[in-house]
Amino acid sequence: MFRFLRVNTEQIWENPLVARRFQHYLGVLRGEKVARYRIVKKTPVENVDIEELPLSELWVHHRETRKKFEELETKIGEGKDALEGLPKPEVSFLDLKTQIANKILTNCHFCERRCHVNRTTGKLGFCRLADKSAVTSAFLHYGEEPPLIPSGTIFFLSCTFRCVFCQNWSISQKWGDIDVLNEGYFVSPKSLSRIMENLAKEAKNINWVGGDPTPNIHTILGALTYFDLNVIQLWNSNMFVSSEGMDLLFDVMDFWLPDLKFHENKFAHEMTKAKNYWEIATRNIKLAYDNGFQEMIIRHLVMPGRVKSDTLPILDWCAANVEHAFVNIMGQWRPEHKIHGDPHFQSLDKRVTAKEMDQARRYADQLGIHWREVR
Ligand code: SF4
Repeated sequence: MFRFLRVNTEQIWENPLVARRFQHYLGVLRGEKVARYRIVKKTPVENVDIEELPLSELWVHHRETRKKFEELETKIGEGKDALEGLPKPEVSFLDLKTQIANKILTNCHFCERRCHVNRTTGKLGFCRLADKSAVTSAFLHYGEEPPLIPSGTIFFLSCTFRCVFCQNWSISQKWGDIDVLNEGYFVSPKSLSRIMENLAKEAKNINWVGGDPTPNIHTILGALTYFDLNVIQLWNSNMFVSSEGMDLLFDVMDFWLPDLKFHENKFAHEMTKAKNYWEIATRNIKLAYDNGFQEMIIRHLVMPGRVKSDTLPILDWCAANVEHAFVNIMGQWRPEHKIHGDPHFQSLDKRVTAKEMDQARRYADQLGIHWREVR
């Protein structure tokens, strides 16, 4: 018999574990809590002309303003203050973040590639994206994990990885050789906010993805200045974000949907062309977990022949470091893009077996990791 139905989108909240672990998410869905970026917009930056300051000084103000943001968020959370009653600041924490992002763009280090190119002059780094962002599609996604659907998914062109198995390679990699307008369309912060508004009519969240969303942090923060609906902001990424990029995102994102694919750095580099994958991805996942509401679904794609070397140590790490995160242990590996037919990738040119999936899931059960709720 076919198992053709995923969990009903409302039924999932009858599961007390999911409702307890995703309290902030559910609170925003029900209009009882406030999406974080809206508090960021109401947090004032005092007496400073952010247009004039160098990046180092902007970061000093960022650190100071974060403390005010955290105080305000606590007060609002405890019902001691109401967002609606707060004045619109002349310069907000979001304005400061956007200014920092635009400065980073001139010496780009949004991700740990740290290309240090000035993208505003058309110079391209590894991701081959100049300063303009392009959205290839934006729609209500019903294929995401049950608590997330329908998800207002916004796919950006370009990526900070070059995965040899990428299923979205036409938007993440191939476009660099062709006219970008054939594959996507450019968005300004304002037009991106309109896309968000359309999705937010039915979506449970705004799901920032790609390729990878990281090269577009400046456009995303800019779009939020035009947007004010109480909708969850969700970061769906390979997590190769720089520490500075993470600093910009922490207070703005409500929910995290990170990939954690590889444990062995040598293999990760062969697959993605990323160095120090394990240290960077786990650093960022831990930072996101510790600086938010611990509301997170980690996606782990099981790969053929890699259970012992990647899956099991990844599950060990999740159990020890992010114990309230759900882990989606995914079995949909397909030998695509450069994998299929290349003798060098022969060991990966097949599907994952039921035995491998069983081994991964049984190990997760032993560790107390919850995965059934989000498959
Ligand atoms: S986003 Fe990353 S890959 Fe792209 S230019 Fe910036 S540092 Fe390089």
